[in-house]
Amino acid sequence: MNGKIEVAADCCASPSLISVDEALSRILNVASPVEEAESINIENASGRVLAEVLKSTINVPGYDNSAMDGYAVHSAECTEAGVTLRVSQRIPAGQAGVKLEAGTAARIFTGAPVPEGADAVVMQEVCQQQGDNVSINTAVTAGDNIRRAGEDIEKDSVILRAGTRIRPQEQGLIASVGLANVAVKRKLKVATFFTGDELVEPGHELAQGQIYNSNRYTLTGLLQSAGCEVIDLGIVPDTLEATLDVLKHAAANADLVVTSGGVSVGEEDYVRIALQQLGELTMWRINMKPGKPLAFGNVDDTLFMGLPGNPVSVFVTFLIFARPLIFKMQGAESCLSNELPIRSGFEWKGVKRQEYLRVRVRHDGSGAYAEIYPHQGSGVLSSVSWADGLVIVEPGKAVNTGDVLKYIPFHGLY
Ligand code: AMP
Ligand code: MG
Repeated sequence: MNGKIEVAADCCASPSLISVDEALSRILNVASPVEEAESINIENASGRVLAEVLKSTINVPGYDNSAMDGYAVHSAECTEAGVTLRVSQRIPAGQAGVKLEAGTAARIFTGAPVPEGADAVVMQEVCQQQGDNVSINTAVTAGDNIRRAGEDIEKDSVILRAGTRIRPQEQGLIASVGLANVAVKRKLKVATFFTGDELVEPGHELAQGQIYNSNRYTLTGLLQSAGCEVIDLGIVPDTLEATLDVLKHAAANADLVVTSGGVSVGEEDYVRIALQQLGELTMWRINMKPGKPLAFGNVDDTLFMGLPGNPVSVFVTFLIFARPLIFKMQGAESCLSNELPIRSGFEWKGVKRQEYLRVRVRHDGSGAYAEIYPHQGSGVLSSVSWADGLVIVEPGKAVNTGDVLKYIPFHGLY
């Protein structure tokens, strides 16, 4: 499935850190989209990636129709306010009227077809109907309050390109041209496991020295909201044997393996070693904070991304590396997160590594600014829950209040 991965000559021997941009481009370079597609009902298409170009076989709207409840008229008969016309027909939505007689108006409702001959609709608020007659208390111009056939979508035009990630608005758009089924890329199979002898599942008592496996829920949720089929292999003890076993199984059953923990340099960190024994470690250690000890590689055709164990690092490295990788493998046209300019509402000393700080957008008299969460530790998951996005602080740079930073919003990411 994936092309041969080139091993950077000094990737694992050198202690030097790889820049975030370089790491991302290397990751995206080796990823290729899954080929298989399947036809699904649009009802279930949210989060899936289109595998075909969609064209419309109809105009939307299909016919000129009224944008208002009111009266359809010949505009030339109502160039000045105060004209009285006989109401010659009534056209509710869902019905077709007949040709509009000269000197008359048609009572018409929103969405109903404008009858032949009529070239404007006057909204009912400026009309007065008495018996069979209506006074039009405004001057009318041709085209008023008419939604033209094809003004949304023209017959034979492309409505969505292959590679589009389908959101609810695309589900609606596809339905509006009458398509019930669409071809989408098959779901990406992503295997996960969570290393650490200290890990316990929620719902159980903690013994001294144990913690709950929170990464499982963060990561599984992120994968699901990215439209993946998750193969959750649970907690793995800190032994080389157990790590080799689970990695072998994961690689044999998934397109991509994403794990947490065990990628540092500690004696209890076996993920990297297991990867080197079963496949290749092509990249390790990124110049970022949080998230330095990220490992990337492959076991045969299955790509592997080992996220750090710290809960904030999991979230941040997922957004920066795993999500774009997943989107590329899903065949999505655009893979990268939006980065928006934001004014800093704080001062920050900066470190040698590129930092991703948890912030929240606030507003003052000068517009939007980023407020920082006071505790930025990589284990402080509350910071991610509090925040609505990340700001990037470039390596070696300090931040002054008022500086413009790049902001990656969490909303719209999933
Ligand atoms: P590691 O990368 O395995 O050295 O883990 C780094 C830190 O993250 C340690 O404090 C771990 O206890 C913590 N950690 C590792 N895995 C998880 C997990 N699944 N859930 C919550 N914390 C974790
Ligand atoms: Mg560990």
